Amino acid sequence: MTFFEPFTTIFVLLFGLVIGSFLNVCILRLPLGQSIVHPRSRCPQCKRPIAWYQNIPVLSWVALRGKCASCSTKISVRYPAIELASGVILVVLWRWLGPNVEFPIAALFALSMLVLFFTDWDHQLLPDAITLTGVAMGLALAWFNPYLHGEGWGRVWSSLAGAILGAGLLWGFGAAYGKLRGVEAMGMGDVKMMGMVGAFAGPFGVLMTIFAASLVGAVVGVALIPLRGRTLQDTLPFGCFLAPAAMAALLTSQRVAAAYLAILLPNS
Ligand SMILES: [Zn+2]
Repeated sequence: MTFFEPFTTIFVLLFGLVIGSFLNVCILRLPLGQSIVHPRSRCPQCKRPIAWYQNIPVLSWVALRGKCASCSTKISVRYPAIELASGVILVVLWRWLGPNVEFPIAALFALSMLVLFFTDWDHQLLPDAITLTGVAMGLALAWFNPYLHGEGWGRVWSSLAGAILGAGLLWGFGAAYGKLRGVEAMGMGDVKMMGMVGAFAGPFGVLMTIFAASLVGAVVGVALIPLRGRTLQDTLPFGCFLAPAAMAALLTSQRVAAAYLAILLPNS
């Protein structure tokens, strides 16, 4: 730890809080097809624009006691909570991964998953602006992405294979389920989201994500049966399970794959 380390961590935290404030705008506007740059943030009730000093992450919400300065409409605690989550995620990744190429890649991926979690929770929507952009970014960054298997072109192929496998599997599940039940269960949003996950985390990351999300989804689904009709949400969108599972898979799938191969092939 260097002399500068406490300062860089504080800087990363502040940066994360500011980014979190922007993520709030993305979560609010992307599912509605609105611009994320224009107009300026305003109170959803009285439409009054929010001044810069009322828009300081976390602090403004605390200073205003969670109410709009002009009409006193309650401002959800989710805004400062998402800002804080964004800051904490970046600090944890920074302390864990340090000044390496892993940090910006994991940070970009984690914050995208955070947005997808909340848009899916709120609207059962996974906006193309995140998922398709994510596929493109995953492929573009593949050469430098140490979470993909191999080096150089090997990583690019791994990214491409991951994107195809991720999107293909989800599309296949959706088609099979649709045939079985005569309904459309899996939206194209999940297909594109898993394309993004594969482009960043490769084919093994895709398998780990789907496995973990299905497992947790099944457990939560069973646990919620006695609460049916009284829960916040009757159906929990699959993207809400995929998002945290994908983050865990990105960070650990290479080590899990190595451990798994060591069990399968103990003498190699
Ligand atoms: Zn207001």
